[in-house]
Amino acid sequence: MDIRTRYAPSPTGYMHIGNLRTALYAYLHARKHGGRFILRIEDTDQARLVEDSVRVIYDSLSVTGLEHDEGPDIGGPVGPYVQSERLGIYREHAEKLVSSGAAYRCFCDKQEKQEEPGEEQDGPILGYDGRCGRMSEDETKASLAKGMPYVIRQRIDKEGATTFNDFVYGPITVEHKQLDDQILLKRDGYPTYNFANVVDDHLMGITHVMRGCEYISSTPKYILLYRAFGWDVPEHIHLPHILNQEGRKLSKREGSVALSDFLEKGYLPEAILNYIALLGWNPGTEQEFFTKAGLISEFDISRIGKSPAIFDEVKLAWLNGQHIRAMSPEAAHERFMKFYPEKVAAGLDVKRLSVLLQGKVEKLSDLPAMTAFFTGMAEDYPVDLFVNKKNKTTLEGSKAVLSELEGLLGGLSVWDHGGIYGAASSCAAARGAKIGAVMWPLRIALSGLAVTPTGAVEIAELLGKAESLRRIGLALKRL
Ligand code: GLU
Repeated sequence: MDIRTRYAPSPTGYMHIGNLRTALYAYLHARKHGGRFILRIEDTDQARLVEDSVRVIYDSLSVTGLEHDEGPDIGGPVGPYVQSERLGIYREHAEKLVSSGAAYRCFCDKQEKQEEPGEEQDGPILGYDGRCGRMSEDETKASLAKGMPYVIRQRIDKEGATTFNDFVYGPITVEHKQLDDQILLKRDGYPTYNFANVVDDHLMGITHVMRGCEYISSTPKYILLYRAFGWDVPEHIHLPHILNQEGRKLSKREGSVALSDFLEKGYLPEAILNYIALLGWNPGTEQEFFTKAGLISEFDISRIGKSPAIFDEVKLAWLNGQHIRAMSPEAAHERFMKFYPEKVAAGLDVKRLSVLLQGKVEKLSDLPAMTAFFTGMAEDYPVDLFVNKKNKTTLEGSKAVLSELEGLLGGLSVWDHGGIYGAASSCAAARGAKIGAVMWPLRIALSGLAVTPTGAVEIAELLGKAESLRRIGLALKRL
């Protein structure tokens, strides 16, 4: 079987991380089996259309490297790939169902309200009472002759039950009395999501339908539609919820949920993909770090779990750090450059800085705070910082060390790591102290901070001789 999966977003203006996971799983499954990954834009809910939101979809797929094989922008054999361009197709298919009796025209007023796509339903639906479904052919003809507007509804026999076998959740049975005679085609000629997804998945040859588990309860209605058309039912793979730390669904109101939020925070697209791959799927080993290529080879739909996944930003940050470490220094530098404050980028040997920070940074958005002291040190830092138990430093001791260092460093003709380190170690040796007793005060003098992303020698190296000596002079005054 040639595997065909699809990602079918509605243009909402942002890419929810849960949707990105759906896209990723569909992409991985297709790539792993040499299949095709299709992009379909589901814009039938015109009320929800947000300007430019289709662009957000393309940008999100492109920044994460989930390249599609068919879609609105690149075409393909089963287009168009935008639902609003397929209205004739839905009409034709709805009419087919009317002819076979699996659907009927409904002329009732104000009965168009139905659940939003993907909304979960508890208990029986107090939906449409099915009265137009009981109309005689003549009554229907008469209403049509009067030019009365109508919708087309699915006819669901309230007896019996439908079972489908979800790939993840197993057999799911819903009694028909729970199912509404849902609208398939609205008065304005637009299909509902519930109808369009079935027609499109069939006509586009989709073999594996992956989507969030909030669609499980609607799936029996889709199964009935497949059967009414006499079509094979594709494999249904529902994905578990992604919850926040409080156990609630990740929602926009409660913090970051959009891909763009995470990119702005300085997470790398490859780390985001790696992290969300693990939200609902596990490789069956202890491995947590995956490149996209690694995911393609390891991903297996039989390892998608049922239990909700908890989104843990600490874990994401950790993985992000792992991806930063795994990059070439040039690639890391290129990514870092987008986050360095302008002054840092202009005033320092940032290539060297990037090399020093590559082993330290977790999220790129930490870079401004981590590096700000290089270009703008707070000169009124507390002098107490010079006192450190572990390194046995005191105020007086620090003063003595720094004044000796001032001379040693001042005499260096080449300002490099070896020279600076040499000066510090001869200072320590002369005083019969450990190197830490020299490095501590030097680092405080150069940064004014208790915690810095690199050691004293590296800071001095980056600051240059003049600025390092100026800061040491300032510390001596403070002391
Ligand atoms: N358009 C739906 C959404 O954005 C997609 C559901 C599906 O994948 O079928 O949630």
